[in-house]
Amino acid sequence: MRRPLAALLLLAISTATFANDVVLRFGSQREGQAILGKLDEYASQTSAYERQAKLKLDRPLSAAAFSAAQGNEVQDWDKAELQRLLPMLARIHNDVAAFKLKPPGEIMLFKTSGREEGNAAYTRGNGIFLSSSDVGKPDRELEDEIRHELFHVLSRHDRQLRERAYAIIGYTPCPLLSVPPEIEASRISNPDEPRNASYCIELTIDGHSARYTPMLFSTLGHIPKGKENFFDGLVMRLLQVSTSDGRSTAVRDGKALQLIDPEQTPAFLKKTGMNTGYLIHPEETMADNFVFASHRNTSVPSPWVVEQLLKVLQ
Ligand SMILES: [Zn+2]
Repeated sequence: MRRPLAALLLLAISTATFANDVVLRFGSQREGQAILGKLDEYASQTSAYERQAKLKLDRPLSAAAFSAAQGNEVQDWDKAELQRLLPMLARIHNDVAAFKLKPPGEIMLFKTSGREEGNAAYTRGNGIFLSSSDVGKPDRELEDEIRHELFHVLSRHDRQLRERAYAIIGYTPCPLLSVPPEIEASRISNPDEPRNASYCIELTIDGHSARYTPMLFSTLGHIPKGKENFFDGLVMRLLQVSTSDGRSTAVRDGKALQLIDPEQTPAFLKKTGMNTGYLIHPEETMADNFVFASHRNTSVPSPWVVEQLLKVLQ
């Protein structure tokens, strides 16, 4: 009985016309399972530790088994949820209608149990996946969460938008790095932009300029159990890299990697702006700024980030 209702709501929302053809619609369990079950860019590069840590399993599993297990957590929407979300989607449509965007056809909204990604909202392909705990958030918070996730889908499908948005906060593409083994052992990736090391930021610290790239890893030292999840040990550090002959290499002092804490680095905070504390990757920082841009809200600590993003979107 759920499918006809979903189809009816879909018809109502997708018949509206928008300048940039963004169509947001609800996806079924089967459609969501198909997206998560794919060995896409994210699933195929997950670390062995990450797969176990995210699913809280005490045995190793392949990338294919990991994505299939994630797919099993997609749930169908119920009628009350659709009715609550529909006006939010309409408002989002309205607010982004004037932006020049290149959406990947339909963008689908899914609900999951949350067990597959530590109860976080995230995106894969052209899907936005909200955990059941996200769906329980107050309206305004949930709507802004969807706006944030929408940026990830748009950025994944429009490299030019991504690079122009990241450049606002000082990130530029850098050649892919082979991840140092001591980080790989507990590396965690972000489905919204799994390639940790493909963008670099140049920082001048104590008079010395160098390039850095964000690295996500766990300091937990074990596979999370019970109420613990992988977020409990997750940290981002900026890894100093050098680039030559089209390759990036981690800089070492003796054997030690040069890792700095972004929150303790004023040069980093100055470049990325102070509108959000979500600084683990330019993708996340700019997704939060996209939320402000979608509300045309420049009453933020670093309005220049939102103003420049609005220009990129026009
Ligand atoms: Zn995000």
